[in-house]
Amino acid sequence: GPTSAFKDVALSILPHLMTTSYEMNDIYGEVIILTATSGDTGKAALEGFKDVKGTKIAVFYPELGVSEVQKAQMVTQEGENTYVCAIKGNFDDAQTGVKKIFTNEKLIKEFEESNKMFSSANSINIGRLVPQIVYYFHTYVQLIEKNEISMGDMVNFSVPTGNFGNILAGYYAKMLGLPINKLLCGSNENNVLYDFIKTGIYDRNREFHKTISPSMDILISSNLERLLYYMSNEDNEAVKAMMEQLNSQGKYEVSVEMKEIIRQEFYAGCVFKEDTEKTIKEVYNKYNYLLDTHTAVAYKTLMDYKRETGDESVSIVLSTASPYKFSKSVYESLFGANDKNEFEIMEELSERTGVPIPENLKGLKNKKVIHTKVCEVNEMEEFVRKIN
Ligand SMILES: *Cc1c(COP(=O)(O)O)cnc(C)c1O
Repeated sequence: GPTSAFKDVALSILPHLMTTSYEMNDIYGEVIILTATSGDTGKAALEGFKDVKGTKIAVFYPELGVSEVQKAQMVTQEGENTYVCAIKGNFDDAQTGVKKIFTNEKLIKEFEESNKMFSSANSINIGRLVPQIVYYFHTYVQLIEKNEISMGDMVNFSVPTGNFGNILAGYYAKMLGLPINKLLCGSNENNVLYDFIKTGIYDRNREFHKTISPSMDILISSNLERLLYYMSNEDNEAVKAMMEQLNSQGKYEVSVEMKEIIRQEFYAGCVFKEDTEKTIKEVYNKYNYLLDTHTAVAYKTLMDYKRETGDESVSIVLSTASPYKFSKSVYESLFGANDKNEFEIMEELSERTGVPIPENLKGLKNKKVIHTKVCEVNEMEEFVRKIN
């Protein structure tokens, strides 16, 4: 897609799903999209909403929490209706700040008076998850066409997971009838989901790690709430109670029955820096395929799963980004330390591996920087107010 992220698929459809549904419901006025990003959502959303009539989009990213390439992608964003702001905090701070604005009645009223309303481009918007379901069916059909599987065969999917959006789309695919055995959830050092699937206890009270897979540096995984809804037999009250505990204590525990169902559907893997780097190198040497740091986590998770369970059925690893968005980490995994800037490393990586750089990333270093704003978390509201 236009930004070399798997998120491009859903985010190029979402603006049109939104504006069409507003028209169908006789809602006229402007939609203000507010987005928190750990790196990739921001750019993909900006591209999706850029100059779409009746919309404006604001993106908040953690100042020190994205790769140089991801940052360059966002600060050079063109379009009359785009706003970008770095925040002094991590992704969870940005996401919490945006969620607060969505429930800020005073601000909502101010915007309503000029016929504007807020919406989200994060995967808390169901319009993000629905298009992603297609990946799973599409992959399955491809495997049938290549005679790798027969119709009805069970397969596994391994997904590098942060906000639990992509993997939840896989669970929806299963609910719709796709023959999926296990969904494998890969985590990095921020392994809150790994612990949750293993123990049934969700506990965000832990150190936040800055990792080489920054799009998964998340401790509050928003879409888990949706999974809990299904796993609790659609018990709204139970889910609400757990979410309130998460808000007040940063922690909750699911019932024994729920834990069992979750473990039947999901396998958890947890892959730290050293193993991620090793995996990138192994896969490159073996298959001449360049994994990005996130995809490497899912790949290693699958290897661990196979070794632990002996399950030999066909398995699919979801690749989530171009390795060139994380050039430095990928380069260093293969060839050792390199202190040049990210764009020089990008070129070197391509020269040494022969894997071409996507056009949209190649031209980036010569683009004009347009967005330079940096704010504190508590200044996010003011930034949004100025868009009105
Ligand atoms: C967003 C993202 C993920 C995590 O996806 P979720 O839907 O948030 O779980 C993984 N890898 C990359 C490269 C991403 O951009």
